Amino acid sequence: MTEEAPPKSAIFCPRCPSWWTGLTAGHCPTCHRTFTNIRAFDKHRAGSHARNTRYCRDPATLRDKYGDPVLVPANKKWAGWALPGSWDGPTDDDE
Ligand SMILES: [Zn+2]
Ligand SMILES: [Zn+2]
Repeated sequence: MTEEAPPKSAIFCPRCPSWWTGLTAGHCPTCHRTFTNIRAFDKHRAGSHARNTRYCRDPATLRDKYGDPVLVPANKKWAGWALPGSWDGPTDDDE
């Protein structure tokens, strides 16, 4: 087994060891988790913009009103979070 090396297209966070791929992915500058798109990113943020009480929630514990996970681990080589059932097919992962 060889260590999985980030591809050339990988984007690195300057402040933590995270890397990811894909232009739609978003990395949170507060909790340093990565999300596959802005909608997934928004799900982990709570609080009010107006009252400046925005904060991060742990994606692993987020549940909707039916008790289903709001975010699921992304099907990626990098650690990230995605909306359930929103896997949009292989992007730049060369198999
Ligand atoms: Zn965050
Ligand atoms: Zn980071």
